[in-house]
Amino acid sequence: MSRPMPRTLPRPLHARLDDATVEPVPLRVSDGTELALHRVYRVDDDRPAVLLLHGHTASADMFVLPETRNLVEALLDAGYEPWLLDWRGSCRLPYNEDGTTYTFDDVALYDIPEAVSLVRARIGTRRLFVVAHCLGALSLSMSMAAGLVPGLAGVVAQGVFMTPRVTVPTRFRMHLSVELMRKRIHRIPVDFRKAGFRSKYTPLFALASLGADCPDPTCQMLHNSAWSIGASLFVHDNLHPRTHDRLADLFGTVPLCVLPHLRRIELAHTVVRWNLSDHRYRALPENALDNADRIDCPVLLLSGSENRLWPDANRLCHDVLKARQPQLDVRYVEVPGYGHVDPIIGRGAALDVFGHIIDFLDERR
Ligand SMILES: [Zn+2]
Repeated sequence: MSRPMPRTLPRPLHARLDDATVEPVPLRVSDGTELALHRVYRVDDDRPAVLLLHGHTASADMFVLPETRNLVEALLDAGYEPWLLDWRGSCRLPYNEDGTTYTFDDVALYDIPEAVSLVRARIGTRRLFVVAHCLGALSLSMSMAAGLVPGLAGVVAQGVFMTPRVTVPTRFRMHLSVELMRKRIHRIPVDFRKAGFRSKYTPLFALASLGADCPDPTCQMLHNSAWSIGASLFVHDNLHPRTHDRLADLFGTVPLCVLPHLRRIELAHTVVRWNLSDHRYRALPENALDNADRIDCPVLLLSGSENRLWPDANRLCHDVLKARQPQLDVRYVEVPGYGHVDPIIGRGAALDVFGHIIDFLDERR
């Protein structure tokens, strides 16, 4: 692998995007949280819009990596107008590190519906799609089950959607090991340089290094451990060397405040509401799957065949939705040889994955 990249490089969002303008659109959601939203366009016309939702601790940058043909470029070339949301779990926002507590209820209730409303206010009657990854997709499924984002033209959910499930060892770590850790630490970093050599995080990095083929501590944490839950985020060979070297910039610290909600979701094998007695969240159903009849648009469920974070979750989701909601237009596409996040950030994703997404959008534009 090549040398680590200097930390002063601009974030990928502001790197090369041929002929495209990146317009920041201010977004403060109604609980007062400041988010980031960007519209990417080449010409002001009436093309359909696509809102992109990143995974937890990643950011909108996962869709604009300059070293690969990225999803934003593919969408622009296919005649779409991408909109990039950094929801509150983004590593480009301060909330994962500044002690803010939140759950995926907040993402489903505030971030996603209010971003959709703002995009709609700008695009008028144009069609709006959403392409979402991992916990962005999981939170979106709750927004949809709550009826908070009606009338989308179609949704692509990558990695997981409404029926999350993990392996037995990952479940064990989520429910026991990480819970024990919560007494000592409040967040798990991925950047060894920021964490320091002799910190309380050193044992976590040491654990992640066990059996690892790659010497990069951030890569070990993500590829070998997934923030200490023992899962894996990608098929190593699918990453471009530049992407590999910027992993510490693309993925950030996970705050353990989200863990109790995630554990409850994992136990239920569907997205459930965390805040059961707080009336502010009453718009969210207690169980998303039981309210899947509120999904009112076609859904494409995508997953790499080697997804080691949510193995077979989207295949299961397809089968369950087909059985319970036969009126739904839902399909499942499995991409051979891909893991969890490399279907978006992999060097060959434009060849192997994006065609499935754009074909789905094209059929409904
Ligand atoms: Zn590596």
